[in-house]
Amino acid sequence: MSTVVEGFGGEVVGPEDSGYDAASRTVLVGGSPAYVLKPSSVEDVRAAIKYAATSGLKVAVRGGGHSFPGFGTNDGGVVIDLGKLAEVEVVDKEKHVVRIGGGATWGQVAAALAPHGLAISSGDTKSVGVGGLTLSGGIGWKVRKYGLALDNLTAVELVTAAGEVVRASADENAELFWAVRGGGGNFGIVTAFEFAAHPTTDIFFGKLSFPAGEIAEVLPRWAEYLRTAPAELTSTASFANPFLGGPEAPLEIEIAYDGDDADRAAQAIDPIRALGTVIADEVALTPYAEVLVDGMVPPPGINIVTRSAFVDTESVPDVLRLLAAAGAAKGAPVIAVRSVGGAVAQVAADATAYAHRQAELMVITTKVGPPPAIEAGRPAWNQLWDEVTPHVNGAYASFLSGTDDADVSAVYPAATYERLAAVKREYDPENVFSGNHNVRP
Ligand SMILES: Cc1cc2nc3c(=O)[nH]c(=O)nc-3n(C[C@H](O)[C@H](O)[C@H](O)COP(=O)(O)OP(=O)(O)OC[C@H]3O[C@@H](n4cnc5c(N)ncnc54)[C@H](O)[C@@H]3O)c2cc1C
Repeated sequence: MSTVVEGFGGEVVGPEDSGYDAASRTVLVGGSPAYVLKPSSVEDVRAAIKYAATSGLKVAVRGGGHSFPGFGTNDGGVVIDLGKLAEVEVVDKEKHVVRIGGGATWGQVAAALAPHGLAISSGDTKSVGVGGLTLSGGIGWKVRKYGLALDNLTAVELVTAAGEVVRASADENAELFWAVRGGGGNFGIVTAFEFAAHPTTDIFFGKLSFPAGEIAEVLPRWAEYLRTAPAELTSTASFANPFLGGPEAPLEIEIAYDGDDADRAAQAIDPIRALGTVIADEVALTPYAEVLVDGMVPPPGINIVTRSAFVDTESVPDVLRLLAAAGAAKGAPVIAVRSVGGAVAQVAADATAYAHRQAELMVITTKVGPPPAIEAGRPAWNQLWDEVTPHVNGAYASFLSGTDDADVSAVYPAATYERLAAVKREYDPENVFSGNHNVRP
């Protein structure tokens, strides 16, 4: 097969090959592609795209393979798996510029940068890909101080649908650079990302737990405190976890304080400890690279569905009240509320294709289980979303299992979508890269 893909020097895995089962599926979703192509170089990526375009097979591009809808695989098409392009290199020690291969994971990045005392605010999980997370946003443990992962991006190199290598930054192909910062994988295969990393120390990180009976009281006060908390503090509240007791599960408030000064950390975190009855306090000084967790790989037959939306300041009390009530109902999904705001909100709404800068919080609901269990939870899920929808806006592409037109317009408000479509017409007029929340040319 590799001779059929002209000029391709990477690995080709077809249905006859022993590694096919593992190669055909992503972390979350199974597939049955005709071939999985694993390029070892930019030239291989160009050859893979040319092959896909001429063969007429549909294309899926895989970075870390964590997309909830399973964008990193397909049935009967070509999967281009970037896993071999995972080099992490500090290219400018003074300016902390880091060049990262398009298939690297955040665990690889954090481990490679730790000896340099550097980090990039990314997400919470080691195995998540730099590609998918950055191209749609990137909400991590330093988001309130350093913004989204894509806010720290200084340039990308990508291979377009025509097989051309293009560099985009604020000075070169600026409109493409605008589009890739939020527009997902719509515009080409990014073979290298360049970020401005930031110096990091160990950070204060861990969980504070409160009894389920205090959720309605603690949650709004937590959100209120975050408005005036230092930007070093990023926090996520989650509850109704069925594995911890469903409606009886404690409220878990995860905290990341970006710094190693114990007094300042305590000053920032103690107001959260004072919000209610702390039943577990696991906050401890932790190397940043160890804060990231190993992601769960669901066994075959176990599905994960997720949905998200943003909450603006004036709607915070209503949304948190509704969520607290929804979490107390039988069959509720896991409910998580992530703090954004801070540095994210200091970037103009039209500066990148990520359009939800004004939001103070993001809500995520998640259901895990075999399909019948997910169906059984549907009424509670629908009721929750029916109730909160009038008070929330948009959706975060990275936490969105749905892929229909309504989902795409939740990710991209009309003006953003139109601008993205113009860039799409220039770089991918035939919509070769359609395995994503798709912007149609
Ligand atoms: C366990 C878990 C934890 C998560 N935690 C966070 C979190 O803390 N913060 C957060 O913001 N998000 C988080 N996410 C969401 C995550 O950012 C998205 O699922 C993201 O799409 C994963 O990227 P990936 O490269 O691993 O996935 P993939 O499925 O490989 O790719 C996702 C999309 O990006 C495209 N793509 C990937 N790499 C490239 C590339 N180099 N060039 C062009 N297109 C590319 C793919 O074609 C696909 O459309 C989490 C997801 C999971 C499953």
